[in-house]
Amino acid sequence: MKKHNFSAGPCILPAEVMQKASQAVLELDGIGLSLIEISHRSKEFVAIMENARSLALELLGLEGKGYQALFLQGGASMQFLMTAFNLLDKKAGYVNTGTWSQKAIKEARLFGDIVEVASSQEDNFKHIPKGYAIPSDLDYLHLTSNNTIYGTQIKEFPKTDVPLVCDMSSDIFSRQLDFSQFDLIYAGAQKNMGPAGATLVVVKEDILGKVSRKIPSMMDYSVHVAKESMFNTPPVFAVYVSMLTMQWLKDLGGIAAIEEINERKANLIYSEIELNPVFYGIAAKEDRSTMNATFNITDDELKDIFDDMCKEAGISGINGHRSVGGYRASMYNALPMESVGALVDIMSELEKKG
Ligand SMILES: *Cc1c(COP(=O)(O)O)cnc(C)c1O
Repeated sequence: MKKHNFSAGPCILPAEVMQKASQAVLELDGIGLSLIEISHRSKEFVAIMENARSLALELLGLEGKGYQALFLQGGASMQFLMTAFNLLDKKAGYVNTGTWSQKAIKEARLFGDIVEVASSQEDNFKHIPKGYAIPSDLDYLHLTSNNTIYGTQIKEFPKTDVPLVCDMSSDIFSRQLDFSQFDLIYAGAQKNMGPAGATLVVVKEDILGKVSRKIPSMMDYSVHVAKESMFNTPPVFAVYVSMLTMQWLKDLGGIAAIEEINERKANLIYSEIELNPVFYGIAAKEDRSTMNATFNITDDELKDIFDDMCKEAGISGINGHRSVGGYRASMYNALPMESVGALVDIMSELEKKG
């Protein structure tokens, strides 16, 4: 029996996507060849790449608005340096909301002056900074929309004329936003889209070509745009599975439909965390993530009992990140409501025991 998969990433994908993907490894759409044994220049794969790129823009409501979608390699971590390489001429601003922001800052410092415009480090990133001033002379402002480790999520994005760059690795396609407020969005596939190995980059074309430095081809967004995301061999399996997941989401009713489901899942677990005296939430209430719920147990002595109960119920992947401790239930798009129900049942059962 499949377990309830609360893994933070790589993580659960829709069951029907897994079915189709495993079939395509054996034979793609009746062509007598495997997806992973054909040329990326074959008409079959070119169609897959085109479909994946256009689905990404369609789901985000960015079609015909001057954006390009790319599937690159190197993970979100590569984007930490690629964004700066391509966009940072003199000075950029970063909002420090945790480990991933800090890693992005570290790479960007190699390319120019970095202003940390706000930080929530003082409370170990339990909240999202708000109301900070944004200098008007920044090349861009970098944000992390969802802080996977701490369970915080930006609900209101700053209004500014400075171009916005956003790491959406762990909440892409999970909620409705005006995505046209961003000039560049990136997301590693492995948290809401597909297997590790592909990174979605959605870039507004008119922000490119403004830095004076030379950019190596593989690092240059303009090269990848010109080559329609096929400058070199793309991660064909990861792109294919991401395409299937995006198709699944579109058939479900798009981001509007999944947002409603995600909110119901989040409400279910957060109300249990609030009402059950055995548990407490870690992230500030107004900034709590719909994707990653972080919580802890009030009485350490109950920890072993809870862990055993989880194991017995087939609940997998809820240990918190080592820098936060406690528990983290990741509830990405593909996680069914029943899995959250199963976890909440155990939490209330523990209250009765405790
Ligand atoms: C997981 C994660 C990353 C790192 O992604 P890689 O693909 O492993 O480089 C970056 N940012 C956020 C917000 C993440 O959740």
